[in-house]
Amino acid sequence: MKPNTSLLHEMSWTDIEKLDKETTVFLLPVGSTEQHGPQNPLGTDFLIAEHVARKSAFLSMQAYCLPTLPIGVASHHRNFAGTLWTSRETLEKLIKDVINSINYHGFKKIIVINGHGGNTSSIMNAISDYNDTKETLCTLFEWWRDEEIINSVFGTPSAIHADAIETSAVWAVRPDLAKEERLTGLTSAEEWGRKIGNLYFPSRTDQFTATGIAGRLEGISIEKGDQALEKVIEKLVKAIEHLSIYQ
Ligand SMILES: [Zn+2]
Repeated sequence: MKPNTSLLHEMSWTDIEKLDKETTVFLLPVGSTEQHGPQNPLGTDFLIAEHVARKSAFLSMQAYCLPTLPIGVASHHRNFAGTLWTSRETLEKLIKDVINSINYHGFKKIIVINGHGGNTSSIMNAISDYNDTKETLCTLFEWWRDEEIINSVFGTPSAIHADAIETSAVWAVRPDLAKEERLTGLTSAEEWGRKIGNLYFPSRTDQFTATGIAGRLEGISIEKGDQALEKVIEKLVKAIEHLSIYQ
């Protein structure tokens, strides 16, 4: 745990200049501003990613957290009010530019902490290109992909969208934004996207769910959300320590 801040935007350029170029790991939280059902805030994805990234940076002597990128690839949610989006290309370019800035200052180790599935391909394109052409160690971390942790806490391995798992997580991060009274009577799609026979069709969200929710809503619990995120953070801190000393 560090005595002072772990957030780049709260530090000065002279603080950053003093950091060890070889062992420092930068965390970049990336999310989305998109509908997450009536019970959750539009910022759900970036609030969770930011929490995971900031707390992990705080707990690790070697990690520092970059400012959050709060808008992602979410045009499939566009028929739900308040949703904002970038194109895949814009997000990919923005992530490349941020990585490039950090690398220009001499740092090589960057973990993108993503909170939104729609961003995954753009982030992977950005970091793969970068690792391919520079001496960087950039990677992607997504909290909900750890099926072992998710299953151990919720009794089911896969989170979908604004379901019990994601709702519990964001309510744990921001209990002041939980709208429990809105859960009554909410419908939810059984799975993500549309299937015709055994073919899967990526679709606009409103084509398969009226509320914007996909996945089970039973079992929402702030305590479980907390437990899952704590376990995820503990695992990420260990990974950061490993990456930090890797040469
Ligand atoms: Zn989400």
